[in-house]
Amino acid sequence: MRILHNSDFLALWEAGRLLHPLDQGILAVQAAFPEHDGRVADWPIGRRNRALAELRCAVFGAALRGWIACRQCSEQFEFEIDGRSLAGGTAAERVLVQGHAFRLPTSRDLAAVVHEPDETVAARRLLQQCAEDELPESAWNEKQIEIVGESMAATDPLAEIRLSFDCPSCGAHFEESLDLPSFIWEEVEARGKQLLMQVHTLASTYGWSQAEILSLSPGRRDFYMEMVRA
Ligand SMILES: [Zn+2]
Repeated sequence: MRILHNSDFLALWEAGRLLHPLDQGILAVQAAFPEHDGRVADWPIGRRNRALAELRCAVFGAALRGWIACRQCSEQFEFEIDGRSLAGGTAAERVLVQGHAFRLPTSRDLAAVVHEPDETVAARRLLQQCAEDELPESAWNEKQIEIVGESMAATDPLAEIRLSFDCPSCGAHFEESLDLPSFIWEEVEARGKQLLMQVHTLASTYGWSQAEILSLSPGRRDFYMEMVRA
């Protein structure tokens, strides 16, 4: 994995800031794993998520912290998960269901159905894209879609990251999915904006170039920022 420096962060944020989270996730993985450039869109979602988790742990540390609202009482509380539990490992890339082979859905497959408002239609189209055999239309009933979906989830458990919560306020138990690309992109954006703000402040004060400011160590940059504010 390639370590992302400050200039890489800014380039990543700039390239992806107006894109869909699916594309932001692909860009982030490609920035950290340039040897896979051009192929990440065709990785199963679980593989993309494992790569994103690895990147997140290396750059921001292993503790993923966020806020969640209780499904029952709407109380907001903080959660923390260990990003290392999402990184590493491998999964098979296809499943066999009742003698028919399906490859696992990729970012490219999701992008093709992401604007379909009807969830059942989207699920059917997604599985049709992934079917390696010609299946008759009659094979795509809801039960069949559910069976194939469950088999895919069992084979690629990180494709959808399900988190369980017990509300500290009302005790309700509920589950939520963690959208890893969106979660990480918020952090990329925050880091990018913070760096630009520091460049603006230090360039205005000392007349240094952007490259000079970005090449300062974080400790030194923070120190100069404190001096400017003092
Ligand atoms: Zn609650």
